[in-house]
Amino acid sequence: MSFTASMLAASYTQGGALSITEIPVPRIRDDEMLLRVGATSICATDVKIVRAGHRKLRDGQQIVLGHEFAGTIAEVGSQVTGFTVGQRVGVVPNAGCGRCDACSRGRANYCPTYTAFGIDRDGSHSPFVRIPGVFIRQGNVVPLPPEISDDQASLLEPFSCVVNSVRESRVVLGDRVVIFGAGPMGLLHAKLFNISGAGKVVMVDPADDRLEQARRLGCDVTINPQHEHLRERVLSATDGQGADVIVTACPIAAVQSEAIQLLAPFGRLCLFGGLPKNSGPVPCDTNAIHYGNFQVTGTTGGSLQDYRIALRLVAGKRIDLGFVVAATLGLSQLREAYDLALAGAAGKVVLTAD
Ligand SMILES: [Zn+2]
Ligand SMILES: [Zn+2]
Repeated sequence: MSFTASMLAASYTQGGALSITEIPVPRIRDDEMLLRVGATSICATDVKIVRAGHRKLRDGQQIVLGHEFAGTIAEVGSQVTGFTVGQRVGVVPNAGCGRCDACSRGRANYCPTYTAFGIDRDGSHSPFVRIPGVFIRQGNVVPLPPEISDDQASLLEPFSCVVNSVRESRVVLGDRVVIFGAGPMGLLHAKLFNISGAGKVVMVDPADDRLEQARRLGCDVTINPQHEHLRERVLSATDGQGADVIVTACPIAAVQSEAIQLLAPFGRLCLFGGLPKNSGPVPCDTNAIHYGNFQVTGTTGGSLQDYRIALRLVAGKRIDLGFVVAATLGLSQLREAYDLALAGAAGKVVLTAD
């Protein structure tokens, strides 16, 4: 191989801790490819794994973290067709079994036995990552046009989750939209609803600095429920009707119950943010749903199609994902990058090739 034999990787050992160690550059089989990582971001999932492990990892199992990435093909197995060394690609990090009902619908993110980078196979927080054949065969390796940088392409996976949510919300022209949670994901929702023709986008968050950013990014109304009357403010922002679409982009059970009370007739509620494990069943006013003809849904992850839509929106300059980045560091600064992410950086930490 023409590359160095070893590389620095951010690994997690189940039941143990994060370690930044030298590991061998992976060798590929004939149906695989080796990707030189151009950019890879740290996800809340990576942070969660470092803090609490993962149900899919066995005791003592070590894994290179990272599933949000893009880069350049460094090596192609002899059986792989349609890809060449030097080509820039993004990778959809979850591959389904290809046989279950969810997979047959093209929704591998709901496959009960999906496999994912950085969870049950080595991920992208290292200079090189091995792409197994199943990802190549199922279309998870997506060529990148020159209009999109590796940095932005590394954010396509989180953005594809937002694309999934906004599509499920069935937003139509003129809709009055309320988003709970002005974190990176909530802000991406606001941007996407804006270009999807929403008549008004309202952001709710208990932190004034996050609301200020939301206003800068095009939210029409911001509400801080700590010192404003939520219901009154939502009604006054929605012509007294309530919201046509509500998204909860925060992990708070009470917000889910409250949101149903703020919908306009025929409103749609999308539960985007999952709740901590022990949140228990959440009370829900089913009569409000009945009499209001509401639709309540939830989304998790994004499909291959959502990823490709996300790519077209970014490459087409309809949306710039740069605003969700809190810090960009070199791949050799893995320790510093994880320190920032574990300390709760206000946005994404992105690692780029040194
Ligand atoms: Zn992620
Ligand atoms: Zn499946």
